[in-house]
Amino acid sequence: MTETLVILGSTGSIGTQALDVCGRLGVNVCGLSAHSNIDLLESQINEFHPRAVCVMDAKRASEMKRRVGGVCAVVSGMDGLLEIASMPEADTILNALVGIIGLRPALAAIESGKNIALANKETMVSAGELVMRRAREKRVKILPVDSEHSAIFQCLRGNEGNRVKTVYLTASGGPFRKKTKDELKRVTVSDALKHPNWVMGHKITIDSASLMNKGLEFIEAMRLFDLRADQVTVLIHPESVIHSMVEYEDGAIIAQLGVPDMRLPIQYALAYPNRPESGFNRLNPLTCPALSFEPPDTERFPCPRLAFEAADRGGLLPAVMNGANEEAVAAFLRGGLSFTRIPELIEYVMGSYNNTDKKDYSADDVLDADKWARDRAREYLGDN
Ligand code: NDP
Ligand code: MG
Repeated sequence: MTETLVILGSTGSIGTQALDVCGRLGVNVCGLSAHSNIDLLESQINEFHPRAVCVMDAKRASEMKRRVGGVCAVVSGMDGLLEIASMPEADTILNALVGIIGLRPALAAIESGKNIALANKETMVSAGELVMRRAREKRVKILPVDSEHSAIFQCLRGNEGNRVKTVYLTASGGPFRKKTKDELKRVTVSDALKHPNWVMGHKITIDSASLMNKGLEFIEAMRLFDLRADQVTVLIHPESVIHSMVEYEDGAIIAQLGVPDMRLPIQYALAYPNRPESGFNRLNPLTCPALSFEPPDTERFPCPRLAFEAADRGGLLPAVMNGANEEAVAAFLRGGLSFTRIPELIEYVMGSYNNTDKKDYSADDVLDADKWARDRAREYLGDN
């Protein structure tokens, strides 16, 4: 059970829900971070009284210092983020940053012996082997926050030592599940931001619409639970009631069910191994919708196929894929790339990358591969 927590990305969708959970559980919050939303950060400081906060943007950090100086220390930039990620009084760091920016803070937290509650899937996709190895060596826990991985983690408990046959990773299918290939060419940013079952940050909402979110989660599952690619099967499950399932050798399938509310997996990670009363809405089996499943259509949604390929070839290719996807999503959100060109851009960048045999990579290698991928993606975008 977490006693004292740092939240990286406290002003985001996961960060704000995590603070709600902290209030309910009585977890102390000693550090917070934001990129630039200092108004929300200020109200979080007033409510949770952290000893220090990081504002990534230097100008906003000076403004924050002017507002709360004396009450709370304010640091900034990557150095500030690393300082907050290794605060001595914290036992756990919730990494709710979005994107590969979360890699260095995650490693800093592990090096200083903190458990990590991990929402920041881009870090696990790009550098999962490195993160898991350092966590094992430092004997710290990586507690998944992503709802599917929290479900898998829960389904694995009590079955240690038994071989997993298949992990069924469920996906809602996103807002465009029923759209034809032609219709997908014309979808807008505001169409893509309307997720049927979850309210989340913009980046993951676009990833959910393109199904890249499931591609990222496929690799995240392989790294977190040491699975081969052929042990993970993606299933479209539009009701989002089953958050994922694990099938064992004997044919038994264990699933975790619940209403779609990220506070439950966040609470599970923070209260682990306990299950205190939550006060959240509950699933009523008598009124819950009939459950349905279908395979993903990788013809209309090529992103999962690209992730399977990156996972299969391994090395730094997942980092390249992730970097290209971050650029593609940013370009789509600012109106510089159509929805169906997101996978085209990623495929182009992955196709230009030859160096896939690097297995024993460092954080610098990952960040170099990420930068390489972003440069290629920008070249491609310049060509449009
Ligand atoms: P949001 O965009 O809502 O929040 C991101 C947070 O990170 C904000 O606090 C933001 O600060 C901060 N941030 C953004 N960019 C930077 C940067 N360059 N440097 C430092 N801080 C930065 O994202 P979500 O909460 O939706 O997602 C966070 C992570 O969790 C992602 O990896 C996502 O895939 C994963 N996840 C999210 C789920 C959800 O339901 N939202 C579900 C499962 C996983 P500011 O507010 O100032 O911009
Ligand atoms: Mg998820």
